[in-house]
Amino acid sequence: MAPVVVVGAGPTGLTVAALLARRGVDCLVLDRRPAPHEQPRAVHLDDEAHAILNSVGVDFASISWPGQGLRLLDANLRVLAEFRRSSAAGRHGFPEANMFDQPDLERLLHKKVTVVHGVEVTEITQHGDHVRVNGERADYVLGCDGANSFVRKAIGARMQDLGFAQRWLVVDIDSNADLGQWDGVHQVCDTRRAATYMRVGRSRYRWEFRLRDGETADDYRDLDRLRPLIAPWTTVEDLSLRRVAEYTFRAQIADKWRDNRVFLLGDAAHLTPPFIGQGLGAGLRDAANLAWKLAAVHKGELPASVLDTYQIERRPHVRTMIRLAKLLGAAMTEGGEVGNLLRRVLMPRLHLVPGLRNRVLSSETPALRRSELVLRPRFSRSLAGTLCPGFMPDRITVVTAESHPRLADWLRQGKARAAVIRPDGIVLQA
Ligand SMILES: Cc1cc2nc3c(=O)[nH]c(=O)nc-3n(C[C@H](O)[C@H](O)[C@H](O)COP(=O)(O)OP(=O)(O)OC[C@H]3O[C@@H](n4cnc5c(N)ncnc54)[C@H](O)[C@@H]3O)c2cc1C
Repeated sequence: MAPVVVVGAGPTGLTVAALLARRGVDCLVLDRRPAPHEQPRAVHLDDEAHAILNSVGVDFASISWPGQGLRLLDANLRVLAEFRRSSAAGRHGFPEANMFDQPDLERLLHKKVTVVHGVEVTEITQHGDHVRVNGERADYVLGCDGANSFVRKAIGARMQDLGFAQRWLVVDIDSNADLGQWDGVHQVCDTRRAATYMRVGRSRYRWEFRLRDGETADDYRDLDRLRPLIAPWTTVEDLSLRRVAEYTFRAQIADKWRDNRVFLLGDAAHLTPPFIGQGLGAGLRDAANLAWKLAAVHKGELPASVLDTYQIERRPHVRTMIRLAKLLGAAMTEGGEVGNLLRRVLMPRLHLVPGLRNRVLSSETPALRRSELVLRPRFSRSLAGTLCPGFMPDRITVVTAESHPRLADWLRQGKARAAVIRPDGIVLQA
């Protein structure tokens, strides 16, 4: 067997395998499905995630579409607030919001790694200097096996519930007709029927509707039954229903992400309600964070102790993003009629809050916590732990305004004369 076994060929498993392969570490990717998963789920990734995909040679721009921004609507689809975004490249060299179809991304990732399909991992045992997967020997196992992870159970980790569970109907439609709608994300902020609508690609559209008690996806299994829900956006006849499914959106995080030689990544380690489109982004960040460290330890370039920094850095970051997603979910859906009234009064005035527009549209995520590989001062601001704009070096690299003039403004704004950048683009010290 290869030194690293990746359990699960979803986007997280494929990305971490591609990142490791790029660093010269052989991986074996196993997936229990007989063929790649063709279900559309994620539709948005930010520019930080785009940069990770770019680093393994995935041409994400060829299958994505710059996001136009966000409109908050009332139950009658009247605009309460609007946040338009430019489709120009942001600080990492890519649009800050990117709409896409998850199966398209998985197809591109599959070209980067070899996957053995039809193999279900049912046994993992640790033996000090190695680990056995279905009886075969490996140095490390990466559990990228999704929400119901077997690997998570095998290492005795548990999901902590962060207090969110809502049933939603997810509808994917293809059409070459012009639906005559604004191309950004529409969030209907209404307790009785919260909803989301967005254009995902040239001919792809996504609606999500919160299900009421007693309703199921089967109640909306064909276009005739869906018409009353989507009619406020379109009455176009030329629609083709790709699929309709029910999901329970949850907020959960595993209590431990590593046990000796076994790690959890992606949905196996955390579940984020999709309101801010960050669940898969978190999985890709896990992959980028762990891959270079594991490769360096495997080659004897760094001590094994640095592998502890994976959970120390990633878990608080994911927790913050989950909190943000819950907050947006609550702002859209909670509070009954009083909530609806407050939204009608407050949302049209959001533009008056200084700096809010930039905060809503900014794709920059929080800095990573202090660790052996994030050397931040305790009480003052620093670039350490943040993502360097558009730079993921092959090895830990020191940058200055002289050596990298493109980064001069960023260094100056961060009050740094030099910064040490890790291969995942995170600033180690500034
Ligand atoms: C409706 C919806 C909308 C979403 N929107 C967004 C969005 O806009 N942006 C975003 O970033 N995220 C979004 N997400 C979340 C995103 O889709 C997931 O976070 C992402 O698919 C997780 O990828 P993964 O590779 O970690 O897990 P998965 O995609 O679940 O892959 C796990 C793989 O492991 C395999 N497997 C499982 N058990 C075993 C085993 N024992 N042995 C071998 N193989 C195994 C499975 O077959 C599967 O292929 C959304 C999710 C939903 C449901």
